[in-house]
Amino acid sequence: MTAWPSAPPTAADREAFAAAAPRPFWLDRLSEAPRYESLAGEREADLCIVGGGFTGLWAALQAKQRESGRSVVLLEGETIGFGASGRNGGFLSSSITHGIGNGLSRFPDEIEALERLGLENFDELRADIERYRIECDYETPGELLVAVEPHQLEGLAEEVELLARYGHDAELLDAGAVRAEIDSPTYLGAVRDRTGTALVDPGKLGTGLARAAAEVGVEICEGSRVSELEERGGAIVVRTAAGSVRARRVLLATSAFAPLRRSLRRYIVPVYDYVLVTEPLTGEQLKAIGWSSRRGVSDGGNRFHYYRLTDDDRILWGGYEAVYRYGGPVAERHDTDDEVFGLLARNFFATFPQLRGVRFSHKWGGAIDTCSRFSAFFDVSHGGKVVFAGGYTGLGVGSSRFGAAVALDLADGVESEATRLKYVRAKPFPFPPEPLRWAVIQLTRNRLAAADRKGGRPGLWLRMLERLGLGFDS
Ligand SMILES: Cc1cc2nc3c(=O)[nH]c(=O)nc-3n(C[C@H](O)[C@H](O)[C@H](O)COP(=O)(O)OP(=O)(O)OC[C@H]3O[C@@H](n4cnc5c(N)ncnc54)[C@H](O)[C@@H]3O)c2cc1C
Repeated sequence: MTAWPSAPPTAADREAFAAAAPRPFWLDRLSEAPRYESLAGEREADLCIVGGGFTGLWAALQAKQRESGRSVVLLEGETIGFGASGRNGGFLSSSITHGIGNGLSRFPDEIEALERLGLENFDELRADIERYRIECDYETPGELLVAVEPHQLEGLAEEVELLARYGHDAELLDAGAVRAEIDSPTYLGAVRDRTGTALVDPGKLGTGLARAAAEVGVEICEGSRVSELEERGGAIVVRTAAGSVRARRVLLATSAFAPLRRSLRRYIVPVYDYVLVTEPLTGEQLKAIGWSSRRGVSDGGNRFHYYRLTDDDRILWGGYEAVYRYGGPVAERHDTDDEVFGLLARNFFATFPQLRGVRFSHKWGGAIDTCSRFSAFFDVSHGGKVVFAGGYTGLGVGSSRFGAAVALDLADGVESEATRLKYVRAKPFPFPPEPLRWAVIQLTRNRLAAADRKGGRPGLWLRMLERLGLGFDS
């Protein structure tokens, strides 16, 4: 038994998203965003960054902050925020380890430092947003982790204890208290966390970062897909169809997209996550569910939803199914998936039956750079000249700024507290090649769903993965 209907989505569930625009809500309203010329001809640069998502943009800005005189070129294959950075839920977390629990199990000796570094990054990110006047609807209403099944209640008290141990202002809410905050018949209890959590408009954050980077002298090129890297004469030549950049250092911030270094394929699997956004709720609809606190919410379970209000009072509702397709293609045809949207709509109306009749205005999906330890990792190659940062596994809105800073340390040969950590020095356990990769991931997804149906109890397969320190998440 789970909190979600076992019956397939109804015609009414499907009808609710049938006419939704198949593109990210955040990007859809950015029609005024400045566009940047694509690369044409040859360039020389101290640093060339590949990828115009949060990792690439933060790296560009910080590279100039650290050394204003260095020349920086950023090459984006599509447009700024085209990847996960323009498609996410906008939950900004201080955690750089995909939550304290995950960090504790994988980096027990370093978790104190990682938590502190994460909170510092969170504060500095806020300061940068103010310093560069980036209007991105930054708000700090706190977060709720809600239990929607009895067995999830057991974990809540433990979660509060863990958060409090690391200095979070966290408390346990019973069903009455959580339903007084947001009224869903599925809620049985919750953890309320007010530390290290914020909500942003990721579309505005991406374009704001690009504007700030351009203002401090970064050359941004959109429509500039990099096809290869070539080491030549002590530098790296980065090629696109219409030009090249000869750079002293290269930073790869390509996330779940096909990596320019083949060996990285072992560590990242592109996992698709899907999102629905409603039309703006009326005052009456908002009143029917409460939610005046505007806190971001995620529910328990291996297959979880995350949801929040937008600045214009829509509900963004995403998650539940994390889809891996054979061979891991990242392609436009996977940006929508009616099967997943159906499940999302069904579970949305189960959570908020008061909103039956509300329609969704937007539906989309995006690829998540899942790695087996659920947190960023780093790769240094070409004699220290090429650095990769990625693998945030669905929690990269905040941690990508930290990933960018570490990648710059590595590219510049700077020893820092972070670069001494195992977190930075060690790689995640690799995924096997296809066809085994697909089989293992499908089996794991299947077992995670089964555990949700069986009161959260992990079976043999999940227990074995846990013992090996491996997992699958989004
Ligand atoms: C649906 C969804 C919901 C999410 N929700 C949240 C959330 O609420 N909170 C959270 O913390 N995280 C969330 N995430 C994860 C978060 O969005 C990512 O961790 C983060 O945006 C990663 O940023 P990035 O810059 O590393 O990658 P991306 O934003 O994916 O950027 C990579 C860029 O590289 C470009 N590129 C790739 N290859 C090349 C090439 N060869 N040449 C030139 N350019 C190239 C791509 O076009 C892309 O723009 C979510 C992700 C998804 C998909």
